[in-house]
Amino acid sequence: MIMAEQPMLKFVNIERDMPEKRPPDLRRTDFNEIYAEYADAKAKEQSSRCSQCGVPYCQSHCPLHNNIPDWLRLTAEGRLQEAYEVSQATNTFPEICGRICPQDRLCEGNCVIEQSGHGTVTIGSVEKYITDTAWEEGWVQPIKPGRERPESVGIIGAGPGGLAAADVLRRAGVQVTVYDRYDRAGGLLTYGIPGFKLEKDVVMRRNDQLAQGGVNFELNCNVGVDNSFADIRARHDAVIIATGVYKTREIQAPGSGVPGLERAIDFLTASNRKSFGDAVEDFDSGRLNASGKKVVVIGGGDTAMDCVRTSIRQGATSVKCLYRRDRANMPGSQREVANAEEEGVVFEWLSAPKGFVGDPVTGVMVQKMRLGQPDVTGRQAPELIEGSDYVEEADLVIMALGFEPEDLPTLWGEADLPVNRWGTIKADYVSGQTALDGVYAVGDIVRGASLVVWAIKDGRDCAEAILKRLDQGATAVAAE
Ligand SMILES: Cc1cc2nc3c(=O)[nH]c(=O)nc-3n(C[C@H](O)[C@H](O)[C@H](O)COP(=O)(O)OP(=O)(O)OC[C@H]3O[C@@H](n4cnc5c(N)ncnc54)[C@H](O)[C@@H]3O)c2cc1C
Ligand code: SF4
Repeated sequence: MIMAEQPMLKFVNIERDMPEKRPPDLRRTDFNEIYAEYADAKAKEQSSRCSQCGVPYCQSHCPLHNNIPDWLRLTAEGRLQEAYEVSQATNTFPEICGRICPQDRLCEGNCVIEQSGHGTVTIGSVEKYITDTAWEEGWVQPIKPGRERPESVGIIGAGPGGLAAADVLRRAGVQVTVYDRYDRAGGLLTYGIPGFKLEKDVVMRRNDQLAQGGVNFELNCNVGVDNSFADIRARHDAVIIATGVYKTREIQAPGSGVPGLERAIDFLTASNRKSFGDAVEDFDSGRLNASGKKVVVIGGGDTAMDCVRTSIRQGATSVKCLYRRDRANMPGSQREVANAEEEGVVFEWLSAPKGFVGDPVTGVMVQKMRLGQPDVTGRQAPELIEGSDYVEEADLVIMALGFEPEDLPTLWGEADLPVNRWGTIKADYVSGQTALDGVYAVGDIVRGASLVVWAIKDGRDCAEAILKRLDQGATAVAAE
């Protein structure tokens, strides 16, 4: 009897192999993604390393609970279209998550073969490969609802949270309008995250797919200025707030407020706009352009990593990143730190800004820190080392200390919109329902600055909750 070859569990003989990275000298010169695509044979080979665990920890640590072992097996067997169907059943934008999820903290960080020392299955890269192939093969099509429904939902914010909700609602035939203050949809996918992590045509083709499927976009519409929240609420059967968090945490220190100190979001938005070919006055004037400058970025999260790597690509003469804890305790992805170091970024760990010198800025006063006793959260608090101050030269300083929500109740004149003491909207964690009837909220505006994959999850769950409610309403009307 001829036995069929076992397609999986090859991790013992096959080593982990990420798609090839472009050499640092080359990637420093452009904003293209740094990882090449897997060749078909490599995607199959890497998928075949999965051990098909009975209890897949990768799946339980993926916020979307993607059926990872299933689509890995289908890929290993060469059944790519089926792999795509399984993958897109739980994830609205798999090719985006495959590119930018911090897999080391989510699915891949919990892969059982990683725990046993064999190196994780490269889940994110395979997820990206499956859906990029689906786009190339024409398997990704505009939404065609089985029937049109009369109800409409307004979504404020065209980031991943709002767009994931729009997708689910439109598939069910609901009339969907997405309002956004920017001129392009995508939220931080479009204007925050740089092209070297997520090329812009990957986002734009999703925007086009939604528009072709009947999602109505009202762009350049700043709710609270161009249109009132009350007005939007009156237009729709339900409203989802998906506005993200954009207020920059500031440093209150001597010397602040001078030219040369810039907010990360302004710097990144200007850079992304230039990649689209837009005219950007503050970039063209040199204000938000790192070219020929000594750049210091303050912060240790994803935004800081994006700023340092953008500065390198813009032609800064030197780029340093100041972070008050050490490498092991930084919030940003370790993979991104390694990429930044390869590209020439210097990290000054255990370093905090004390103030700024010059007007315009010529340097940052730095004080060195050490890690003290763990606080109540178990995280070691940074402590100052007296007498260790020095000045780090800089002619562009970028603040990347995190984001807070804008004050929506005041901006929108909606005192009843429930927010907690951090300003994020109070909403049910599964449905997104707020205390206002028919008003829901998802993504960063509920969680605080978080991740794309969580915004997608929130958007999908909220849309399902709204559909349930609309169905109950429709049943009640039919029974009258
Ligand atoms: C620089 C940077 C890098 C990041 N890198 C990663 C990463 O690598 N991986 C990852 O998973 N996450 C990353 N994140 C986090 C991630 O981008 C967010 O968690 C995610 O985009 C949140 O989605 P959202 O839909 O809630 O909001 P957003 O993406 O912020 O979208 C909100 C939208 O609402 C619109 N809006 C706001 N107010 C109004 C108004 N009044 N009227 C109309 N429209 C309005 C905005 O214009 C925007 O388009 C990064 C964040 C930043 C800032
Ligand atoms: S969505 Fe993110 S966490 Fe989930 S499998 Fe994909 S890369 Fe991993």
